[in-house]
Amino acid sequence: MRKPMIAGNWKMNGNKSLASDMITSLKEESVKTDVEIVVCCPYTLLALGSDLCQDSPLKLGAQNLHWEDNGAYTGEISAEMLLECNVDYVIIGHSERREYFNETDNTVNKKVIKALNSGIKPILCVGETLNEKDSGKTFSKVKGQVVAALKDIDFNNIASVTIAYEPIWAIGTGRTPTSKEANEVISFIRKTISDEFGEEISEELRILYGGSVNSSNATDFLNEEDIDGALVGGASLKKEEFIAIVNF
Ligand code: PEP
Repeated sequence: MRKPMIAGNWKMNGNKSLASDMITSLKEESVKTDVEIVVCCPYTLLALGSDLCQDSPLKLGAQNLHWEDNGAYTGEISAEMLLECNVDYVIIGHSERREYFNETDNTVNKKVIKALNSGIKPILCVGETLNEKDSGKTFSKVKGQVVAALKDIDFNNIASVTIAYEPIWAIGTGRTPTSKEANEVISFIRKTISDEFGEEISEELRILYGGSVNSSNATDFLNEEDIDGALVGGASLKKEEFIAIVNF
């Protein structure tokens, strides 16, 4: 049985006051719900987040990591540094990182491997552009991204990966696929995992939907059979909104 996950991606937003308020409230929610709640805040808030999450089921996530242990990589962050902040999850391959910071399927794969080998669970993002959707390439695009990102990963670790299907055209736009359309792509991703790694692993691994999820549309997505939760951007910065999504 897969435990639902609602993860908030704060992106480059938030400060100490927001983190204190949000994380304190989410900590209270986390003890009342069977949903796994994850807060992926900026690096500067991770230490505070870790203190605030202590002794609760609330989980902390980062938004990136480097695949090397340490060295001359100005501006980057290592798995070990994230572990010092008690990070449980890390978002890898978000479309904004692929688009603005030249992340490729190859670097995404190296990051997924590094995270898993370090004991940090990756939230791997995949999804198609509007052009790719309109030219019927959604399925081939997400399959290519999933297979490339999970290349050479120890079979024992695959089920620790959470995949987030995020159509790029739905991120921050207020436009979404229907829940049925999202479920169809997510079922296809699960089938891809089954073909590559076996049915048992595909039934264990969580697949989220992400892209303009809010308190009004969350229930539709989350009631779909193959959708195990949501990766939430903008709405994760509004406390009442995010808590309403958690309590779908
Ligand atoms: C995201 O960036 O992962 C995301 C889903 O953003 P939004 O919810 O704002 O579309």
